[in-house]
Amino acid sequence: MTPPTPEVRARVLALSGEELPAYLYDLAALRAHLGGIRAALPPGVELYYAAKANPEVEILRALGPYVDGFEVSSGGESAHVAGAVPGAVLAFGGPGKTPAEIAGALRSGVRRFHVESVHELHLLESLATTVVPGTRLGVLIRVNLRVEGEALAGNALAMGGGPTPFGMDPAQADHALALLTDGGCPHLEFRGVHAHLASGLGAEAQLALARRVVEWSLALGRRHRLPVAEVNAGGGMAVDYARPGERFDWAAYGAGLARLSAAYEGLRLRIEPGRALTAYCGWYASEVLDVKHSHGEEFAVLRGGTHHLRTPATKGHDQPCTVLPSPAPWPHPWPRPAARGARVTLAGQLCTPKDVLARGVPAAGLRAGDRVVFALAGAYAWNISHHDFLMHPRPGFHFLGREEPGRTAGEERAN
Ligand SMILES: *Cc1c(COP(=O)(O)O)cnc(C)c1O
Repeated sequence: MTPPTPEVRARVLALSGEELPAYLYDLAALRAHLGGIRAALPPGVELYYAAKANPEVEILRALGPYVDGFEVSSGGESAHVAGAVPGAVLAFGGPGKTPAEIAGALRSGVRRFHVESVHELHLLESLATTVVPGTRLGVLIRVNLRVEGEALAGNALAMGGGPTPFGMDPAQADHALALLTDGGCPHLEFRGVHAHLASGLGAEAQLALARRVVEWSLALGRRHRLPVAEVNAGGGMAVDYARPGERFDWAAYGAGLARLSAAYEGLRLRIEPGRALTAYCGWYASEVLDVKHSHGEEFAVLRGGTHHLRTPATKGHDQPCTVLPSPAPWPHPWPRPAARGARVTLAGQLCTPKDVLARGVPAAGLRAGDRVVFALAGAYAWNISHHDFLMHPRPGFHFLGREEPGRTAGEERAN
């Protein structure tokens, strides 16, 4: 069980069945989490937020004071984040950038690019020439280093380290640097290297990867007699859905990054996590519509489902959750559906056996009308879900603990 914060719990119990399902974001908890991460990171290390994890405007604004910038991976994200957090530093990454997206980003003031291929380097130079002539863009070469050994073992989601569509192989990075030094790209300034090789790594594995990326980057710079000013070691800090109480060890990671910074004075280290920043502040709350006994197993059918919270279906886990028994009496003359056994599988309303949020949840006595609150729903949750499948209504959205003058906590948004 992963109990919601008192604010989230109170709000879920105050909502009627028809107001569920709902996403609830505890912005005060998000600020406290980011404050802790910032305190653990050495002062010189920059923290960007990978917007694709959760681009809700209120989340981006709450993160603003704690981050040095935002990593955006499309023209849509670039325009959205620039609008939500005016003046924020944006780094445009991601494979398959179209000419229109790059031009739009340049017009809206993006001056920092993570370049994924030699073709993209040429494209960026030619667009800079026409769209922002006379301006120099900061370029990080995204590299896909081969990673040996244990680093990518376990449930890490590999974005590199072997064959992938992301970034350049080391030999292509040499080609890119040759182009940047021979005067063929006057609008581009080589700033350093970007690598995002895996998601789901613990602090020690992250540090080993960062060290490897830094050493490789400095060797690349030496070969081409170019200073390496920055290394972006990517995101991918682990979030453990099976043990939600265990958090990524930011203190150990920060201490390791401090040692790395000290060893390479003058080098700017940067990281760009997504999931580990926002997963914990989000909750998906729903109501039990029915409880069924099916060939020896028990199923609760909830309002909503994986078309709102796709995370457990895509990652193949059970979403951690808590049951809040309904305080309301059963309003019907017939018996209230209730679980007879100790474990219940929590399913949604979709007509597919894949619509399961959590299996075998210890929920003895679960009854229709009870509330279920799913934790760790603040990243890769609503925004990666297939909302329109079966045309059920969208959830409500509640942002608790807002910190704006003249506003009390708990602003709402109808969707
Ligand atoms: C997705 C992504 C991130 C964030 O990854 P998390 O696992 O959410 O921390 C960072 N950088 C790049 C390039 C990404 O694609």
